[in-house]
Amino acid sequence: MKKKDSEPAPWQWPEERWRGIVGRVRAGRPLRPREWPGGARCAVALSFDSDHDTSELRDGGESIGRLSQGQYGNRQGVPRILDVLAAHDVKASFFVPAVTALLYPDEQRRVVAADHEIGIHGWIHERNSVLPLQAERDLQMRCADVLERVAGVRPVGIRTPSWDFSPHTLAITREMGLVYDSSLMADVDCYELLLNGEASGVVELPVEWIRDDAVYFNMNRFAALRPYTPPADVFEIFKKEFDGAYREGGIFQLTMHPHISGYRSRIWVLDELIRYIRSHAGVWFATHADIVRYAKAHGA
Ligand SMILES: [Zn+2]
Repeated sequence: MKKKDSEPAPWQWPEERWRGIVGRVRAGRPLRPREWPGGARCAVALSFDSDHDTSELRDGGESIGRLSQGQYGNRQGVPRILDVLAAHDVKASFFVPAVTALLYPDEQRRVVAADHEIGIHGWIHERNSVLPLQAERDLQMRCADVLERVAGVRPVGIRTPSWDFSPHTLAITREMGLVYDSSLMADVDCYELLLNGEASGVVELPVEWIRDDAVYFNMNRFAALRPYTPPADVFEIFKKEFDGAYREGGIFQLTMHPHISGYRSRIWVLDELIRYIRSHAGVWFATHADIVRYAKAHGA
C-alpha cells in the first residue's frame, strides 16, 4: 500500500506501531498431542483447494481459455483425486469457494458422500484483505450458508483465499464459531490463534507454500515465468516434508489443487506419496477438522 509522503517510514515507526501490527494475529499456545489416535506418531492432513474457475473470476477475468482450465478441475481434476483417495481409503479436506460450489454442486455432494470434509475458501476467491469489514464479514458468512445448502454439511473450518488475512478475518471466523483456520504459517503443529493478544479459541492448522503444488506448477501465459520444477522433484520435496514430520512426530499437511495437479503427468505424485506414507507404521490420515479437534482436546 502506498503511504502518503507525510507518513513516517517503517524505520521511523515508534515501537508501539510495529508491535501493534505484529500483535493483531499471532500464534498462541501450541497444541501438540503426545501421540495421535491409535498411538500414531504422525497425522497426515491432505487438502485440495477447488478453486476451479474462480482463479480467473476473482480479479474480473473473463478469459474463456482460463475458465476452461477451471472447468478441467471439475471434469478431470476432482474425479482423479477422488479415485486416488478412494483407492487408498484416505479421508481428506476440500476447501471450496462458494462460486465453485454453485457452479458444480454435484461435485461437492460427491466429495461429502465419500466422507471427505468441505471447508470455506471464500466467495469467488476474492482478495479478502482488501475488502471493507462489512463486505468481508457478509461474504464469509454467506460462504458457509452456500456450502451447507449445496453439500448438506455446515463447514467448521476456513482456508482463506490465497491464504490472505485482513485484520478482521480472525474476528469474523471466531464470531462464526468455526473450529479452525488453515491459512497461516507460524508453526508445524496446530496452535491457538491470538487476536490482539487474547486467546481466540480458534485453532490454526498451519499450511506452507513449500507444501503447495501451485508454487511449483503454475504458469501465466503472458509472463516469462514458467514452471521449472518437474513433478518428480515436487514429489521429493513433499516426501522430505513427510519424512521430517514422521521423524519428529507431528503433522504432515499438504495442499493441492484439482486444476493444477489433476493431470496425467502429475496425479501420480499424490498416489505415490500416499503409497510411501502408508509404508510407515503409525500414521493417521484424517481430515483437517478431525486433526484439529484431536489436537485441541489432547494438545499440551
Ligand atoms: Zn485457492
